Amino acid sequence: MRRPSGYENDAAHEVYPDGIHETIAGFLADEGFDPRTATLDEPEHGLTEDVLEDTDVLTWWGHEAHEEVEDEVVERVHEQVLSGMGLLVLHSGHFSKIFKRLMGTTCDLKWRDDGERERLWLVEPGHPIAEGIEESIELPETEMYGEHFDVPAPDTLVFNSWFEGGEVFRSGCCYRRGAGRIFYFRPGHETYPIYHNPEIQKVVANAVSWASPISGPTLSRGHVPESPEKE
Ligand code: ZN
Repeated sequence: MRRPSGYENDAAHEVYPDGIHETIAGFLADEGFDPRTATLDEPEHGLTEDVLEDTDVLTWWGHEAHEEVEDEVVERVHEQVLSGMGLLVLHSGHFSKIFKRLMGTTCDLKWRDDGERERLWLVEPGHPIAEGIEESIELPETEMYGEHFDVPAPDTLVFNSWFEGGEVFRSGCCYRRGAGRIFYFRPGHETYPIYHNPEIQKVVANAVSWASPISGPTLSRGHVPESPEKE
């Protein structure tokens, strides 16, 4: 989620002339998905009840405007995740209201934007998100994120990053909340062409597939007046 107007960062504009959201939607469409976009400036940030109801997986990118995201929309997304909608949180989305809400921790980390080399090591090779991925992905220039990353221990850690400055980071973290699956994926600073990288695109597409809801049973909760086994 970003704002197309007021897009003042020239370096970012050069790398993503139509915005990161359009780049991500573009390669997901190439992979056979049916993506739609929603941005901060739209009414309800484009995330109305009807839109969310009709969304299998929501991909969330945000940077400087996390506080401008309406609490009511965050609440709505939260409920939808618990009901089974997948959520893919990218890069600086670690500080989004929705990710912090779902994790219950500060989600804070170390960072340094020095164009350092990063190597993402695949540490869970049998995982669906690892489909078609080599044992590591090298990104020549990145913004460094370092531990400690204040999130709950992931249910599954798929990628661990090394940076040339010496820091390491848990870059691909899987979680479940309610019926929903969540994947946090680190790469993606707006001034580097990370989302143009075919391997990164593959991971994002795999993650969208993995986080897609299944058609499970309708569950009931609350007081049960009569035993279902009673005649
Ligand atoms: Zn960044």
